Amino acid sequence: MTSRTPVPSSWQGARLRGAPSRLIVALLSLELLALVLGGFALATAEPNGASWRRLAILFALGVVFEELARKVGKQRLLISSGPQPDMTSVWTFAGTLVLAPGYAALLAAVLAAYLWIRQQREAGQFLYRKVYSGATIVLACLAASAVLSHSGASVLAPTQYPAVYIALALVVYTCVNRLLISLAVVLMGGSMTRSIILGKWDDNLLELATLCLGYVTAVIIVHQPWLTVVVLIPMVLLQRGALVEQLEQMSTIDAKTQLLNALAWHQFAARALTRAGRTSSAAVLVIDLDHFKAVNDVHGHLVGDAALFQVGLSIKQELRQGDIVGRFGGEEFVVMLPDLEVEVASQVAERVRARIATILLSDLQGVHTDGGDCRHALSASIGVAMFPDHAADLGGLLQAADAALYVAKHGGRNRIALAGNRDPDQAPVSLAS
Ligand code: GH3
Ligand code: MG
Ligand code: MG
Repeated sequence: MTSRTPVPSSWQGARLRGAPSRLIVALLSLELLALVLGGFALATAEPNGASWRRLAILFALGVVFEELARKVGKQRLLISSGPQPDMTSVWTFAGTLVLAPGYAALLAAVLAAYLWIRQQREAGQFLYRKVYSGATIVLACLAASAVLSHSGASVLAPTQYPAVYIALALVVYTCVNRLLISLAVVLMGGSMTRSIILGKWDDNLLELATLCLGYVTAVIIVHQPWLTVVVLIPMVLLQRGALVEQLEQMSTIDAKTQLLNALAWHQFAARALTRAGRTSSAAVLVIDLDHFKAVNDVHGHLVGDAALFQVGLSIKQELRQGDIVGRFGGEEFVVMLPDLEVEVASQVAERVRARIATILLSDLQGVHTDGGDCRHALSASIGVAMFPDHAADLGGLLQAADAALYVAKHGGRNRIALAGNRDPDQAPVSLAS
């Protein structure tokens, strides 16, 4: 069996060697555009002492912040699965507000260069990636400066810009940056998904907080340049807060499927059951993939892992927003469906079973196999238990659902079985064997 590197969800860690020529051409074109526009803006900017002073202060703050937050930043990068919000935008966005476009572009470029020099020994920090990131920030600064230049304010003082122009500059800065990074991800072979373009809620909040602090930095630097150093305190706290948030998420999410892990599922499900109380019903499904060992043996663990992810995604797509889905371990998944009667619960379980049976091993993106027949579909057996009919607490429900799963397995697999019912529902025989 041979395996191809999975398509990156970000371009972090991806190498340029062997990359498609359209990617190289696109990256170089954008870098050239940033160089030409930034160079032109700098050449036409009026040389002035105040601008150089502000640029020097912002660069110095960028350097000090990098050194202060370096350890935390490294940890965040290590445990993240996608691109991280760029916290240097606090300095570059401030630069956009208080510097002529050419100086703001120069600040973005020298900060990117400094960060690359400091981080170059770390995994995934390739020069081409840093150059491209630097170019996107230069272009974002120039675009935001262009917005501000239409405000009618003739001086580079953030308090003189109408609020709507500042908000617009912030949006343009973020959009240009995000679009150009998304473009690189797509050219790298990833897909332009909603989450790549819109980003995660927490990341967006962090980015917004960083840019707002950029505005505060700009206001302070104009009136009390040396007091700007105080901005470092909320920036360091913000960075630490982001790490705590990431660690919290990690402790509840199963890395392989991005579903809740067993512990977190228990906590959420117990809470849902308490809410359901004695007045409403709820269902627990225990889902176990059929003959999964054979999938691994024939196609390899990489395909097995991709299958687990796909199964998790498929289960989630068949359920409602408030349903609680987790991976219990191995190839076993568990679902809590609050406020559901037994007939509907059985229909949902059947829908999930049928959906899993549509997953073909050949469709698992990012992996391909030489051995085995990839047209094989997966299948799963599902045990269903109802609250309060089969048990009054979570432990009892899981036991009842597990016993039902056992009946489904013995009934021939690829079928569902309801707790207390000795005959599993009829379903097509598993294709995965
Ligand atoms: P059954 O139909 O009776 O459930 O058979 P099965 O082969 O699915 O059950 P068994 O418990 O014998 O094997 C479970 C297999 O799941 C064993 C292991 O190779 C595989 N597995 C467990 N965790 C992972 C994982 O994280 N990744 C991959 N790829 N495979 C896993
Ligand atoms: Mg199994
Ligand atoms: Mg199992």
